[in-house]
Amino acid sequence: MLLSRLNDGPEIFFTLQGEGVSAGMPAVFVRSSLCNLHCQWCDTDHTWNFEGTPWKHEKDADPGYRKHKKSEVTIETPTTEIVRLVAMHPCRRVVLTGGEPLLQQEAWLEVITGLREIDPAYQFEVETNGTRKPTPEFRAAVNQFNVSPKLANSGMDAKLRLVPETLAGFVADPKAWFKFVAVEDADMDEILTFSREFSVPPERILVMPEGRTSTDLDRHAPAVAARCLLHGWRFCDRLHVRLWGDKRGV
Ligand code: SF4
Repeated sequence: MLLSRLNDGPEIFFTLQGEGVSAGMPAVFVRSSLCNLHCQWCDTDHTWNFEGTPWKHEKDADPGYRKHKKSEVTIETPTTEIVRLVAMHPCRRVVLTGGEPLLQQEAWLEVITGLREIDPAYQFEVETNGTRKPTPEFRAAVNQFNVSPKLANSGMDAKLRLVPETLAGFVADPKAWFKFVAVEDADMDEILTFSREFSVPPERILVMPEGRTSTDLDRHAPAVAARCLLHGWRFCDRLHVRLWGDKRGV
């Protein structure tokens, strides 16, 4: 399958889950390449913002920023090799992330099956933008979906970022949690509208402040905390940003 490349190998790393209901738990992350969305602030743009594509990114304004050469940021990796690399870590929680991991469900199923043959105790979380439907087999194999629907601030057309039938499927699935990054009141108004439109219970909504540094998180946190108190959402920090900053592979 096509994974994101970090240095000479696939982007597989052992760390603490930084966001969501499992925040703070040790986990092995496997980052797939490719995404069907192209959010303008995406912090994993190396998974999709390849040379020759028309997508815009807020980093376009940075003098040193260039679109990525696909061969330098992706690596085709056999699923048996992914199983071998994940199993080297002393951890049974695995986070399948991206990009958008649901674009490569069949290959992920092979990874999940391979790891559970080694130890049935493996637990799998999937980080998804919520626009692609899991197959019944994939849904059954996964323990937790961290669904992160994108808001208008992503720059994506609403028809692309909100797929009602797919979202309804996640709402009906008790394994799914809904996670949002918010900066300002307008974002939180949009989350409220989303929760009403798709009937998501407030206790399954997690909202975290936007920020690539602890200072940014601190600046946005009070407004997010206030709205969590008001609407019954769960406040969520971004532990990886606090511990390691805006770095890859940690
Ligand atoms: S859906 Fe996620 S990975 Fe894809 S572009 Fe948006 S933020 Fe990036």
